[in-house]
Amino acid sequence: MPADLRDGRQDGLRALLAAEGLDALLVTHLPNIRYLTGFTGSAALLLLRPDETILFTDFRYATQAPAEVGGTAEVEIDSASVWERLKRHLADRPAQTVGFEAHALNVRDAGRLKQCAARTAPVGELVEGLRTIKAPEEIEAIAAAAALASAALAEVLPTIRVGQSELLVASRLEAALRRRGSEWHPFQTIVASGERAALPHAHTTARPIGAGELLLIDFGAQVDGYCADLTRTVVVGGRADERQRTVYEAVRAAQLFARQGIRAGMTGREADALARDLIVARGFGEAFGHSLGHGLGLEVHEAPRLSAMSNAVLPVGAVVTIEPGIYLPGWGGVRLEDDVVLTAEGQRELSDGRIELVELV
Ligand code: ZN
Ligand code: ZN
Repeated sequence: MPADLRDGRQDGLRALLAAEGLDALLVTHLPNIRYLTGFTGSAALLLLRPDETILFTDFRYATQAPAEVGGTAEVEIDSASVWERLKRHLADRPAQTVGFEAHALNVRDAGRLKQCAARTAPVGELVEGLRTIKAPEEIEAIAAAAALASAALAEVLPTIRVGQSELLVASRLEAALRRRGSEWHPFQTIVASGERAALPHAHTTARPIGAGELLLIDFGAQVDGYCADLTRTVVVGGRADERQRTVYEAVRAAQLFARQGIRAGMTGREADALARDLIVARGFGEAFGHSLGHGLGLEVHEAPRLSAMSNAVLPVGAVVTIEPGIYLPGWGGVRLEDDVVLTAEGQRELSDGRIELVELV
């Protein structure tokens, strides 16, 4: 991301800090540190004050950290302990109250922070709130991830045969994703066949795919740190039977209706209802046990939530998944997932939205 984008994010955060009456914030959640500075390493603390931003990290990142953060933060390297370094820094230049990310600090590190500052204060998900509204560069990165994910699946689908294991399909898909430029798999690829498709978060196993079975594939791709998240469900080695067709059509209609109807200004609950009401009307309400979708960005699950529990209003610029599903224990399941960005005019689809029933015969 361009440096001016990161500087603008830090300015936005400083305004929030001032509103909370804090003169320093310690950021410990790594995706937040990446968002604010561009640092992609696995260990760092970020101290943000009205007039300075300091990244504390260790010897492993002595070269990488300054290169990634550029002028967006000062970098201090400490081979022994980043917490000791933070303590010395705050001893030299005390802050009145150091805010910390209560949702992202474990008990051990909370104890370390107490050694560094006389007064500390938990803050809510300030950076996550900023991250909810995507800049054009972020939206294009997610669109690029979604495009390569669709292309990888299109490459692998015609090679799927009855008798192949779920793991074989996953290995081919993951290879295609990497070859096409995905930096990493943002979550464990799910390939679930037959009755295992009824497990919304199934592990991929050595189970051979049977003739005429549903095969649910949920997978992601990552470009410039930004994640896409797609699910397709297909029938392998035969035509769909009547029940498969009925369930698939209920999910397809709900997904399409929600994908086209979602708007900024709705609450998470209202968005969720777009799909849920339709699935309930078709008699499968009990079988749609999770929420409609989630935000996408540097993390694969982030704000906002499209959930019956969420009264938060969806903003313009939010990128969300739309992923209704029907899961029938002992039989199987269908989930269809696409990614959209909410715009001032409506929504723009970032993934290909191709959810017509595919029968691999
Ligand atoms: Zn998914
Ligand atoms: Zn998802």
